[in-house]
Amino acid sequence: MRDVVIVGGGLTGLAAAYELEKQQIPYTLIEVKRRLGGSIQTLRQDNRVLDGAAFAITSELQQHPFMAELGLTDALFSLSDEAVAFKNGTETLIQALAEKLTAPRMMRMAVSSIGELENGHFGICLENGLLLDAKAMILALPARYAERLFYGYITPITELLLPYKYDTLVRASVAIALDDWRDSITLPEAVFTHTTFDETRIPAGNMLKQFGIRYEGAATQPETMLKLVDSVLRYYALRSQYTHYWAEADPLSCYAADHTQTMIAIRELLPAGIALIGSDYTLSPPRLGLANLADRINQGIQAAHQMKTFLQNRQQNRDR
Ligand SMILES: Cc1cc2nc3c(=O)[nH]c(=O)nc-3n(C[C@H](O)[C@H](O)[C@H](O)COP(=O)(O)OP(=O)(O)OC[C@H]3O[C@@H](n4cnc5c(N)ncnc54)[C@H](O)[C@@H]3O)c2cc1C
Repeated sequence: MRDVVIVGGGLTGLAAAYELEKQQIPYTLIEVKRRLGGSIQTLRQDNRVLDGAAFAITSELQQHPFMAELGLTDALFSLSDEAVAFKNGTETLIQALAEKLTAPRMMRMAVSSIGELENGHFGICLENGLLLDAKAMILALPARYAERLFYGYITPITELLLPYKYDTLVRASVAIALDDWRDSITLPEAVFTHTTFDETRIPAGNMLKQFGIRYEGAATQPETMLKLVDSVLRYYALRSQYTHYWAEADPLSCYAADHTQTMIAIRELLPAGIALIGSDYTLSPPRLGLANLADRINQGIQAAHQMKTFLQNRQQNRDR
């Protein structure tokens, strides 16, 4: 029987795993994809380092103690007054974290439902029918997946998560040779643009731009992504060999006006032995185009401490 099961191997789940290791609490990590990192992914093409979702990161990450612990103090460069980026792509953070983790991982395995067993343990049902049990659970996955897990177990949480909205903001990274660059006009459709000339990310004589464009409809469909890349290339009359969009990209969280009340209501419904963490559950809305990875790390750390307290209280009650 496991002490803690973590569902979701994105940054938030991995931060929770790392903190559990530091606290010497046994856990198992379950991730449905074949790779860790969730929506964070980096692509390298001929010395060009292109990021999928999180490229421009709020600068509080630079001071986060986590960075020194992972040996990443020099891994960032300044992108603007309020943003930093990773010299070798945001996946650097995932790789550094993954190297610190020693507990069992179940990869390419989806959790299909959760519940409580008669013996008071949590039951975690996998897509292949296997049932795991655990004393506590950290669910580090977006609302659109968590919503299904709570159905039939704590259905009011499903009802609160069901109306959760996602933004139709998609992103493309484009490496542009400076010779190709005709003007400094911002792409009119772009909601935001981040630019760097940093030579750790892009060879000299080039600039790297990440565009965010809002499309109605199915934002993450490949046709939509191609439309985005096409409009960037056509607008700037660019050659296309270093353009990339992420076909696998997840939609970005979107915060409704009543988001904070919904999150408070969900927290009241959650049993003490379950933490629900990640970008969809933060109380403060994101700054557009900036990934607040320090918040994701803090959520993971807090969840690990919540589980530590829960396990200690549970043990004390049993000893009485
Ligand atoms: C296009 C885009 C733009 C973004 N921009 C911003 C931004 O501007 N500001 C900001 O703050 N954040 C932004 N983010 C989010 C940021 O990248 C995430 O906050 C960060 O990566 C941490 O994610 P996470 O671990 O909470 O969730 P994720 O990265 O989504 O990880 C969740 C993991 O759970 C796994 N999983 C899901 N269901 C199951 C299941 N049933 N069983 C097992 N595993 C499962 C998934 O495969 C995934 O690996 C953006 C994300 C995207 C996609």
